[in-house]
Amino acid sequence: MKPLLHSVPQPAIDLPYYVPAGHECELFELAWHKRLPLLLKGPTGCGKTRFVAHMASKLGLPLHTVSCHDDLTAADLTGRYLLKGGDTVWADGPLTRAVREGGICYLDEIVEARKDVTVVLHPLTDDRRILPLDRTGEELQAPDTFMLVVSYNPGYQTLLKSLKPSTRQRFVAIEFDFLPIDHEIAVVAAESGLSSDRVRPLLLLARRLRALKGQDLEEGVSTRLLVYCASLIAAGVSSEEAVTATMIEPLTDDLDVKKALIEVARATL
Ligand code: ADP
Repeated sequence: MKPLLHSVPQPAIDLPYYVPAGHECELFELAWHKRLPLLLKGPTGCGKTRFVAHMASKLGLPLHTVSCHDDLTAADLTGRYLLKGGDTVWADGPLTRAVREGGICYLDEIVEARKDVTVVLHPLTDDRRILPLDRTGEELQAPDTFMLVVSYNPGYQTLLKSLKPSTRQRFVAIEFDFLPIDHEIAVVAAESGLSSDRVRPLLLLARRLRALKGQDLEEGVSTRLLVYCASLIAAGVSSEEAVTATMIEPLTDDLDVKKALIEVARATL
């Protein structure tokens, strides 16, 4: 008999800290109960991965995370035959493991992966919920506890790297953005240990730098970088050094842009 994990999840006691922006937690839970795949869109470092970790713990589900990159192939996800002491043995990839064991499979930055990845995702994301493994001849039926979650950053999209409509339209999608200022201050203070009063000017600077996105900068300062900045300051680094190391250097290599950002920082802090 199949275990009734789907109806009786074991909620974790210590949930990874996550401050919701809206009703995304409820939507996630509903999608899981209805066995629908989920697509999270939003800029890098705005809380998508933390959200998935939080929800996996809340629902008492194992989490299998894969950070996609441009060399990632379908075989990296499904598995491959390996040589072991003269024998050839099949080794499940993370997606196959998640389908066999149940739980959440989170494919971070899915648009980075090779195009053949979408081929294995399609039969998993419609009502068949199957994973065909051509090499072993198996056809795995995803258990009720299995859920596929993918994320991508629409800001990085180019014509070459985008999610095809035929793939996107298989997912329930949630858009993420940086939190409202007071919430983001609370997150950065909680994660870094720096007081809210000292975090606030960093947030004001981050917002000014985010406004430059698309002009001089490809990406704005993420919440992740703000947490780094506040953590350095909490550890005794001067504000100027911390801001340069976390909110300016990671954003650009262009000397003129860097100078302009330093000016903005001096004027704001
Ligand atoms: P993404 O997956 O969107 O690139 P992450 O989930 O890794 O971003 O978020 C980066 C960091 O920012 C987290 O490690 C956490 O410290 C912080 N963070 C961002 N948003 C939130 C949030 N809503 N609640 C709690 N922490 C957050």
